[in-house]
Amino acid sequence: MTYVIAQPCVDLKDKACIEECPVDCIYEGQRALYIHPDECVDCGACEPVCPVEAIFYEDDTPEEWKDYYKANVEFFDELGSPGGASKLGLIERDHPFIAALPPQNQ
Ligand code: SF4
Ligand code: SF4
Repeated sequence: MTYVIAQPCVDLKDKACIEECPVDCIYEGQRALYIHPDECVDCGACEPVCPVEAIFYEDDTPEEWKDYYKANVEFFDELGSPGGASKLGLIERDHPFIAALPPQNQ
């Protein structure tokens, strides 16, 4: 199981969640953040600090945002398990599903 970042984060990225994560597993893409499904320890610390309620426990992700689970997982297909987001900083790409979204939060 893992936590998932969904639509409200896209084009917002205020990064409040990053500071709460004890294992540094929230990675920054170009338009959204992504939680590493294997590195996340399901502590739940990130979820309440997101100002726009973009973070969900995998099983609680709203039906209309189920694709974001796939996006969070597949974003790491190329990266593998880096074991820490801060050393990577901004990763200048997004999962194709996120990249194809029209501008959000405007
Ligand atoms: S706190 Fe919410 S909106 Fe901010 S970066 Fe994290 S998931 Fe995105
Ligand atoms: S649930 Fe915990 S470990 Fe997983 S991303 Fe959130 S803060 Fe990090």
